[in-house]
Amino acid sequence: MLYLPTRIFIEDSALTKAQTYIKALGSKALIVCGKSSARKSGVMDELLPLLEELQIESMIYDGICENPDLESIATGKGIFLAEGCDFLIAIGGGSPLDAAKAISLAAANDLSKDELYDASLREKAYPIVAIPTTHGTGSEVTQYSVLTDPVARKKAGFGSDLIFPALAIVDARYMRSLSPRISLNTSIDALSHLLEGIYSIKRNPLLMPMIIRGIRLIIDNLELCLKEPEHLPARRALAEASLYGGITIAHTSTTLQHAIGYPFTTHFGVPHGLANGMFMEELMRFYAPGIKDELEQLFSGLKMSQEEFFAWLDRFPIKIKVDLGPEMLREWIPIILATRNTKISPRIPSSEELGKILRTVVK
Ligand code: NAP
Ligand code: FE
Repeated sequence: MLYLPTRIFIEDSALTKAQTYIKALGSKALIVCGKSSARKSGVMDELLPLLEELQIESMIYDGICENPDLESIATGKGIFLAEGCDFLIAIGGGSPLDAAKAISLAAANDLSKDELYDASLREKAYPIVAIPTTHGTGSEVTQYSVLTDPVARKKAGFGSDLIFPALAIVDARYMRSLSPRISLNTSIDALSHLLEGIYSIKRNPLLMPMIIRGIRLIIDNLELCLKEPEHLPARRALAEASLYGGITIAHTSTTLQHAIGYPFTTHFGVPHGLANGMFMEELMRFYAPGIKDELEQLFSGLKMSQEEFFAWLDRFPIKIKVDLGPEMLREWIPIILATRNTKISPRIPSSEELGKILRTVVK
């Protein structure tokens, strides 16, 4: 089964092309974004005049930080309701997009921050326009929101069909302002999503051509984009790959690859994409015996061998090392093994096997 209720515009000036659909969503938008990227990317310069032309009122909430926390959702909900908004426009990387999804649910169902993860309390949501400015998460086409609880030092996602964005506005021009570092990290996130579409036991053969094309686009364009950040065709290719990654995980979910990365983000501040990338080779080698046919199909589609893929991956500084002590290891292993993501992996590691994988990144 495939299901994707999001209307996708992927082209330069997508915002203008989508205007009649934006107009149909409501009369006052809460614009949800981070501190600077909504402006730096050029989105605001195009969005604000368009909203004025469409006679849509707006209010800006620019309080979303990386790995959005529960408190920022509560604040966003308060502003949305106090201002009488009726839809949301999320601008940025996965953080503002995921935050807008949670604000939508919180406002529509009057949820406190402690109730956000309770699926039984979600009955409706306000519509969301998602404008990605990174090419990593694919959040513009997923039903997921990943939030951080700073008190519990825990990062966890939830999914609800209610929060698929109504509109995805994918315009690679907005991604030219990304630094090489964020470009790399977010592209590695997209690569993880595409690979996890193959790993997941919820894999779907209909997604395979898209997965192979997405990975090929990343292999062919990532280095070029890091050298020439303004290279628009390279940015377009990476934006397309990221969209495919999102469509993929909307159907397959993410696996142990993501579950293993979350504690590295909450405890060591490793950016999300890198936290996936640091285990990419190790996990593919670990899974390989259980997904021989799938990997064969992938590498014949890519016209490269698995070892050539690893050699390409080695060109990027993603195998970072951290101070992971034995106590942390002991604490993390059962938590990672208990996640839903781990359970849909093609091979579930024992505690010893997971410990061995985790130790590959110890300084
Ligand atoms: P992000 O956390 O949204 O942003 C990272 C940094 O990039 C921020 O400093 C941001 O600035 C900056 N930035 C964004 N766009 C920019 C641009 N065009 N030019 C210059 N700087 C820009 O990054 P992300 O990697 O896209 O998102 C990661 C989050 O998404 C994680 O929480 C992850 O768990 C989640 N995620 C969600 C899904 C899903 O399906 N929902 C999937 C994978 C990951 P500002 O702070 O100013 O915005
Ligand atoms: Fe991700």
